[in-house]
Amino acid sequence: MPRALSAPESISVEKGALGRFSGEFVDRETEQEFLIDRYPEVLRHARLLMTAAMVLNTLFLASDWRFYGQPHFFVALPARLLVILVAGICHFLLGRARDHAHVQRILIGWMWVTAVLVAVLVTSHSDIALFVMLMLPALYFMVVPVAWRWLVLAAAGSSLLLLVGYEIGVFDGTMLGLALALLMMGSALSLMAARANRLARLQWCASRAERHAREELIESRATLERIFAASPIPVVISNRNGRILDLNDSAREFIGFTAGPVEGTSLQEFYVDPTDRERIFALLDRDGRVRDLELDVRLSDGAQRTVMIRATQVDTREGPIIISGIIDISNRKAIERSLERLASTDTLTGLPNRLSFFTAARTEMLRAHRTGAPLTLLMVDLDHFKLINDGFGHQMGDRVLRSFAKACTSVLKGSDLAARLGGEEFALLLPNADIEHGLAIGEQLRLSVEQLRFPEIGEDLRLTVSIGAAAVNNVEPDLDAALAQADIALYEAKRRGRNCVVSAGAHDDLLRFDRTGRGRAAS
Ligand code: GH3
Ligand code: MG
Ligand code: MG
Repeated sequence: MPRALSAPESISVEKGALGRFSGEFVDRETEQEFLIDRYPEVLRHARLLMTAAMVLNTLFLASDWRFYGQPHFFVALPARLLVILVAGICHFLLGRARDHAHVQRILIGWMWVTAVLVAVLVTSHSDIALFVMLMLPALYFMVVPVAWRWLVLAAAGSSLLLLVGYEIGVFDGTMLGLALALLMMGSALSLMAARANRLARLQWCASRAERHAREELIESRATLERIFAASPIPVVISNRNGRILDLNDSAREFIGFTAGPVEGTSLQEFYVDPTDRERIFALLDRDGRVRDLELDVRLSDGAQRTVMIRATQVDTREGPIIISGIIDISNRKAIERSLERLASTDTLTGLPNRLSFFTAARTEMLRAHRTGAPLTLLMVDLDHFKLINDGFGHQMGDRVLRSFAKACTSVLKGSDLAARLGGEEFALLLPNADIEHGLAIGEQLRLSVEQLRFPEIGEDLRLTVSIGAAAVNNVEPDLDAALAQADIALYEAKRRGRNCVVSAGAHDDLLRFDRTGRGRAAS
């Protein structure tokens, strides 16, 4: 069973499996990748090995000189010279090697040729020959960078050749012992070579995984920075002291930081209301984030904008940082405000419409109930308005309605409110005014309407209004009842000949109507 590595992301578990005996990658492609990665180192190593072989064997020539005068001298000398020559040729060939396979072929050839030549050298059967015989296969295992199987083959083959060379013509009975010693050493060294293979490959995998992780980190950081920079939403990163640590282009553009570094700039000036900053920190402390907080900010050119802030606090090694997204909602707010205004305003006169009148009346009624303050309602209807429309046209009628609206607002004070309920019907809401006060304001309005002149139509035209007044009961407040009473009073005003103010008195058996006469107030 091949042993599986805890493979890095770059090498899958199957691809990272190592051979049980060789310690090399089982997957040929992975092994090839490993060898390609190691090629420059292997080549350098191999050439160094050949240089060492040349130098050491040249030195061995001196040792071979001891055979001078003996027949072995003529065997040892050419063999030694050939060993040096072979190493030299291999060195040369390695200089022209193109790839790992090429280097490996040269080294395998070198091992076998050297083994044959050294087998010839050890025929001297000397002590040194015995040492060399044991050393050569060991050297192969330890320093020749070729595939494990070729190493084992070369080591086994050289052991056999050396054994034969050493024992040839002697056969002194040491052969079996030597063979066993060589076998034992070969086995141990093959295990060692496999272990070295395994360690080298594990290290290679680990460094590859580390490189891969580092590259991924750099890549993901770059991507993150690109996203941050390109985000169309202004994003500001600040610390707990409210100082900018970083901001993207959108934020720079929005705040109006035209050029230069802004890191370290305080955001304090940014808040129109300085307590907003504390509000944000309080939310961050409580929830760790801020969701859709609306606030007003001041940009670097002094302009104010309404923004919605979303912020998150993140703990980093340098301490907590706050990432804030800023959405400019000024335009949305302006549209909202204008929609609100449209929904609550009468477009012809600019006065509040029926809806906002009732909303305000309800609020005032509750306040009156709470505080015990009086509250009076006036229902106002233009007299014979139809005649103006019929006689002078609808546009003229509109102009009259606008003039009348102005007359209404001219009599208002404080929190008084005038509204157009529809057509030529208007209402006045008079907080803090009792019925007498209400009647007085009604009378004031009636008189000011009487004074209105419309030269385009003719100096003779007199516009008049009928007004019904009712007090809202602040003990048992009932807006509908008060409105109904004011309506009845208005109807009574019309019945009494128009251009008058009539009050609905709730304390009468039926209704007590106070009539103000034309042009003069009377009760
Ligand atoms: P009265 O004294 O009994 O109130 O008589 P009136 O003519 O004022 O009352 P009526 O209810 O008969 O007529 C109201 C007229 O107001 C009818 C309608 O055409 C006109 N009117 C309603 N809204 C508008 C408007 O927005 N512009 C113009 N020009 N006229 C309007
Ligand atoms: Mg009417
Ligand atoms: Mg009318």
